[in-house]
Amino acid sequence: MSHHDERTFVMVKPDGVQRGLIGDIVSRFEERGLKLVGAKFMRIDEELAHEHYGEHEGKPFFEGLVDFITSGPVFAMVWEGADATRQVRKMMGETDPADSPPGTIRGDYGLDLGHNVIHGSDHEDEGANEREIDLFFDSEELVDWDLDSAAWVYEDE
Ligand code: UDP
Repeated sequence: MSHHDERTFVMVKPDGVQRGLIGDIVSRFEERGLKLVGAKFMRIDEELAHEHYGEHEGKPFFEGLVDFITSGPVFAMVWEGADATRQVRKMMGETDPADSPPGTIRGDYGLDLGHNVIHGSDHEDEGANEREIDLFFDSEELVDWDLDSAAWVYEDE
């Protein structure tokens, strides 16, 4: 099942948690046919925030972004499936909810660039998914299991 095992890091941000959107967001990925292999309800500290968003250090929105992402709990997840990183990004919409069509997570739930509900690894940044999974999860926190419905999700499973 080699091409069905791509893993991507996804996180409901503090605004999504506060607004009660964890369940809906998890449902969307489950219903799509992706397999959950890790999940953690946690608070991001200053150090992890700087590591996770290191590429944005020095930009005008960086301090606000760190304050926001550390302001309340997040729900971190690892999802697995065919082309998972790119498919999750499509389901999220664009970075700015204002540019995100209805039907996407940011297009359905967000109005503001700074409070855009969800994070997902960038599929255009090679290795971002593995880097972010390693940053948030120890390997023993990821669960190997067979999703029985994969035989119906994939033609060649
Ligand atoms: N962000 C912001 N102002 C900006 C650009 C980005 O507040 O001008 C925030 C936004 O919440 C975004 C996060 O910084 O989700 C990380 O930006 P990135 O470009 O990595 O977007 P993403 O990968 O989250 O779509």
